[in-house]
Amino acid sequence: MKYGKILVYMVTLGVCILTACGSEGTKSVMTHKSSQVAMGTMVSQVYYGTDAQDMENRAACVAGFLDDLEKQGISWRESESEIARINENAGKGRVEVTEAMSSYLETAFEVSARSGGAFDITIGDVVQLWDLDAVAAGEKDFAMPTREELTERLQGSGYEKVALGDGYISLPEGMRLDMGAIGKGIACDEIYALCNDGEYATITGGIVSVGGSIVAMGQKPDGTPYRVSIVHPRKEGSIGVVTMKDGEFLSTSGDYERYAMYEGERYHHILDPKTGYPAKSGLCSVTVVSDSGLLSDALSTACFVLGEEMGMRLAQEYGAKILMVREDESFVMNAGMEEIFAVQ
Ligand code: AMP
Ligand code: MG
Repeated sequence: MKYGKILVYMVTLGVCILTACGSEGTKSVMTHKSSQVAMGTMVSQVYYGTDAQDMENRAACVAGFLDDLEKQGISWRESESEIARINENAGKGRVEVTEAMSSYLETAFEVSARSGGAFDITIGDVVQLWDLDAVAAGEKDFAMPTREELTERLQGSGYEKVALGDGYISLPEGMRLDMGAIGKGIACDEIYALCNDGEYATITGGIVSVGGSIVAMGQKPDGTPYRVSIVHPRKEGSIGVVTMKDGEFLSTSGDYERYAMYEGERYHHILDPKTGYPAKSGLCSVTVVSDSGLLSDALSTACFVLGEEMGMRLAQEYGAKILMVREDESFVMNAGMEEIFAVQ
């Protein structure tokens, strides 16, 4: 096969935490900010509290937790992870799953069913064929899969073929689970639980981003809501700011995050499980805010694949707030999002 000129783009985060806030009258409250790479993405942690050591400990504890979640839990690349073990046993019978994993998978499969299969974590084999993570990281060149290859790998996928229940899961032969579309949202749910475990009571608030997923916790010192800037999918800068409060989760999915340009076409990492090709739904970014990290992450991916009309309907069904940026750079949002979004 002849390859045209290939341009490869690195991961760009869809969101940015805006931490500037007045601290008049709240001088005893300090801010802790740290960032690190975890789960293959940038993690940024901001905490507010009265004890610097507590905040540092909390940040270290969250960073360690994210490493464990990836290595022991959800990354198919980590041979010791639960997902790798499930994938390895595809076609070999049932495998015991932890309660946490079982709950993640149940919710994921429910979104699959309610999105008519637009969201489907069983397409891991197709994701691995494109391997856009490695391409975007500069680890390999983009290679265009053939239609036959895609069809063959798609045959092994399909959420409805998974048997999950009573603490066990079994996958048909050839199926590979890929948690890429929900891992960061799961991480945000777990961070929220961790930060509400009663330890470090001197911490009064915080906001943490794990790639394109964000969780807001407690209060900002000045009592104003947290502010998150949404990256413009086609230009430098942002399209606007979303305000968030305690217990809210935000996720953005965009075709500009991991992609390669090949013969003038954009090949991005959000795939349409019906075709195996990158989804072409007329959208270039979708942001969802809800009271669950897993759901906001799953829905941002699902609604991207579904496109404007069906995506809006699905978000509405879940009671989520949604903002969609169309390919012509105009945007549309539901009433819930209108209350928390402002153009900058
Ligand atoms: P996100 O950035 O949250 O939209 O997730 C995209 C990632 O999820 C990709 O890099 C793949 O690992 C995986 N993925 C791609 N398309 C889908 C899909 N339609 N359903 C579920 N997972 C997907
Ligand atoms: Mg997602």
